[in-house]
Amino acid sequence: MPNRLEDLCVEKGMRMTEQRRVIARVLSEAQDHPDVEQLYIRASKIDPRISIATVYRTVRMFEEAGILARHDFGDGRARYEEASDDHHDHLIDVQSGKVIEFQNDEIEELQRRVAEKLGYQLVDHRLELYAVPAGSGKTKSAGTKRK
Ligand SMILES: [Zn+2]
Repeated sequence: MPNRLEDLCVEKGMRMTEQRRVIARVLSEAQDHPDVEQLYIRASKIDPRISIATVYRTVRMFEEAGILARHDFGDGRARYEEASDDHHDHLIDVQSGKVIEFQNDEIEELQRRVAEKLGYQLVDHRLELYAVPAGSGKTKSAGTKRK
């Protein structure tokens, strides 16, 4: 079973306990953007001895090592996904909570130009679109949320 996160941990010189390995595996296999609670449920199915405190600690450790990206999709819960080299942004369906990943070259270019106009060179960005399914009538609240 491929476990990219675990390989990265070893590469970074982290001591990989059995429980950390399980949490790394759960994160690597996640297709969504789970929060700590969801990670805990999945990890404890594999190893019931894992506590939520261990999940918290491990996730923070992975995040500090730069191998895990943390997101806030507006509901106050920190969500996690493997840090990847392929950049993507997120659209959040505010009705269902579903998170859709997308890439858009025009937006990337536009953001680069905005930074440039302000006298900066863009090194990173985050973009979250908060939306409802087209035709659900709630058009006024759809759009980009500012932080
Ligand atoms: Zn994502």
